[in-house]
Amino acid sequence: MRLPTFLFCFFIPALLTAQVVESMPPIVYLLKPDRVFDGEVMHEGWMVLVMGGKIAAVGPSITASSRTTAVIELKGCTLLPGLIEGHSHLFLHPYDETTWDDQVLKESRAERTARAVNHAKATLLAGFTTVRDLGTEGAMYDDVGLKKAIGKGIIPGPRMLVATRAIVATGSYGPKSEVAEIHLPKGAAEVGGPEELVREIRTQIGQGADLIKLYGDYRWGLHEATQPTFTEAEMALAVTVTKSSGRQVVVHASTPEGMRRAILAGVSTIEHGDKGDSAVFRLMKERGVALCPTLAAGHSVAQYKGWKVGTLPEPDRIVEKKKSFAAALAANVTICMGGDVGVFTHGDNAKEMELMVEYGMKQIDVLRSATAVNADVFGISATVGRIRVGLDADILVVEGNPADNIAQIRAIRLVMQRGRLVNTR
Ligand SMILES: [Zn+2]
Repeated sequence: MRLPTFLFCFFIPALLTAQVVESMPPIVYLLKPDRVFDGEVMHEGWMVLVMGGKIAAVGPSITASSRTTAVIELKGCTLLPGLIEGHSHLFLHPYDETTWDDQVLKESRAERTARAVNHAKATLLAGFTTVRDLGTEGAMYDDVGLKKAIGKGIIPGPRMLVATRAIVATGSYGPKSEVAEIHLPKGAAEVGGPEELVREIRTQIGQGADLIKLYGDYRWGLHEATQPTFTEAEMALAVTVTKSSGRQVVVHASTPEGMRRAILAGVSTIEHGDKGDSAVFRLMKERGVALCPTLAAGHSVAQYKGWKVGTLPEPDRIVEKKKSFAAALAANVTICMGGDVGVFTHGDNAKEMELMVEYGMKQIDVLRSATAVNADVFGISATVGRIRVGLDADILVVEGNPADNIAQIRAIRLVMQRGRLVNTR
């Protein structure tokens, strides 16, 4: 006999106390939503069986014979893979609260970690069960420690892929002082040439980096214009050294030239791509480099500068971004879902998905980006990103159908991580 449906509520109070859950026998769940999005396709009438933290069965009819199976009726709901945030900074908080410079220079590492703990929890509760965290921006290797604390069950949070410090060309990055004698700590690791670049990559790997992030261009040109930083040869060297350790290089780049160098070097993703044109997007498609567009970052910064959403004229930055995103879609570039969250509020990650739709992407494609596509591009598809037998049971259930209305992704009914309920409403 199955446990009655209402009994699943009984388990909830213990859910955020990982140790309590650890000591309990594994719970078997039969989840019965109206439909299942498997990461690629929507299936009406499917259900999902979770056992031992894994997805044990998926399909239109599953018979759960075990006496310990908790059946969860999810009428009117859609079940999806736990979402994957492609570009987060758990060690940053919105710039309209505190400027980036002040976060790096005036907030203690303890404060930044305390904030990151809150951000990690907010992210998980919003249904984002995995994040690719692209740089601590001055908080050294603390993302590695945060990831370990989450892994040990000390605090709730998403599983993390971490970049640690990120790498910039000497002189290009901030915070800066106009007094030459003052050497301010930087928001990333500076390297002055090939030898330092190689040493820094290996150091970051040794400290626990899952990937290497380079800033391929920055506002360091004449009159603060955005200009490339690393040479093509330096980028290629970074890719060779990083790839030989089995890791990926991701590059922050907004200019066509910064993007072109990164693409030819063989990086896996380009972050932002704000000034990308048709030619550079065609090259991305040709070389199989994915774009993480971070629409929500620009959208948020424009508002911090006084723009009211919905009012005309739209700031140049927004107009330009809509144009370049359309060009990327037209070139059929692989699009990741990643908002640069931290620039805006952690837990509000869905903002990026809503903007992807607003800027011209199909709703079902946005769901694919946030699940299977991100998992494939980030090299984690053997564990997460799909509703498929054998994968970890990282699951999100929302009310309604987000393929018809992307905003439903916020109407959370439950979040499950490795087969444990972590959020129910
Ligand atoms: Zn970023």
